[in-house]
Amino acid sequence: MTQAPKIGLVSLGCPKALVDSERIMSTLRSQGYSFSRDYAGADIVLVNTCGFLDSAKQESLEAIGEALNENGRVIVTGCLGVEEELIRATHPSVLAISGPHQYENVVSAVHEHLPPVPNKFVDLVPEQGLKLTPRHYAYLKISEGCNNRCSFCIIPQIRGDLASRPAAGILGEAEGLIRSGVKELLVISQDTSAYGVDIKYAESNYRGRPVKAKFYDLAKELGQLGAWVRLHYVYPYPHVDQVMELMAEGLVLPYLDIPFQHASPKVLKAMRRPAHQDKTLNRILKWREQVPDLTVRSNFIVGFPGETEEDFEMMLDFIEEAEIDRAGCFKYEPVTGAPANELEGIVPDEVMQDRFERLMEVAQNVSTGQLAKKVGRTIDVLVDDVDPDNNRVIARSKWDAPEIDGQVIVSNADGIKVGDMVSVLVTASDEYDLFAEPVKALN
Ligand code: SF4
Repeated sequence: MTQAPKIGLVSLGCPKALVDSERIMSTLRSQGYSFSRDYAGADIVLVNTCGFLDSAKQESLEAIGEALNENGRVIVTGCLGVEEELIRATHPSVLAISGPHQYENVVSAVHEHLPPVPNKFVDLVPEQGLKLTPRHYAYLKISEGCNNRCSFCIIPQIRGDLASRPAAGILGEAEGLIRSGVKELLVISQDTSAYGVDIKYAESNYRGRPVKAKFYDLAKELGQLGAWVRLHYVYPYPHVDQVMELMAEGLVLPYLDIPFQHASPKVLKAMRRPAHQDKTLNRILKWREQVPDLTVRSNFIVGFPGETEEDFEMMLDFIEEAEIDRAGCFKYEPVTGAPANELEGIVPDEVMQDRFERLMEVAQNVSTGQLAKKVGRTIDVLVDDVDPDNNRVIARSKWDAPEIDGQVIVSNADGIKVGDMVSVLVTASDEYDLFAEPVKALN
């Protein structure tokens, strides 16, 4: 039998780009291609790039350069693909370039430069497609693009306006993932709470009944499939309040990832953030009354043009008062083509660094206090990794998303495997992590 042509894949950027990579891999696998883990074993290398920040563009250009040096035959796709001239100027020998979610273009470029070998035994793609995440969790992309126009962001220029998937397609994909062993679905998009606005919340037929393409309706349906459902990139639009009832009922994880970016009304206005309002703090406090276990993850930007010490302190107060359990922080970085570059009031680097450190200290104190409250509780955790030398496993609770949040380190973990859901007693905590023992082992 002729050997299957081999593709190397370098996937950069956010979970949305990762989902694009998975889709491209699944298509190519179904056409008889196989994949190589190193450059040397690949006939061609695909680089899925990120183009959000200038530093990410640089990283993507370097990755293309590395693939060219190590292999020589490179196809580029993803967010940086919209800047074809920049890529060609730096790396003229790249074979083909396409933009984000242009699956057909990538696949036909592969066909052109590395034709598939006909093989009647190629139906090797599992029903759920190929995944770059471990088997027990998966990202579920519900829409592409974004209708907002935040002044520091060029995502809408790269990925276009919001384009939501019909609810039935998403639910079908979610079911397939769960059948294949996925225990946690991470719902992603650029603006999850805006889901369906573009298609006027159109109904689609799922299991013989109509389901609306609406944030609440979709979350409720997903919550009934029997896996953990975690919501990312949720903006605090008024209808988000409704989802609290699904969390209170245990259908959706008590976890909200809301990229607030700032708390000063003046800065939020200059950022042109969607759904910013002064009542956000009250709403979070109310959510916490309704769902006492709620964890709020957020991201903040320090040093946005025009940010004064007073604005910055407002953000620190907000993190403390709203008890933002998991806060990430970026120092403002101008993005080529973003309107914020025209704003006055550049914050000097040393001020930005000082604010970054102060914010991280406040965030760490809040996180330490929030995690200490969990000690003594019995909780379920999902196991991501095993550490047999120390007889422990690395797991996550309903309060931790993979890659970005903390972990639960479980000792006395004999016989526990990756992907297991285990009941544990939390025995200690630190700034970001919990420490626990299996309930069984304690009996
Ligand atoms: S919400 Fe704002 S920051 Fe997020 S993708 Fe849309 S425009 Fe960019």
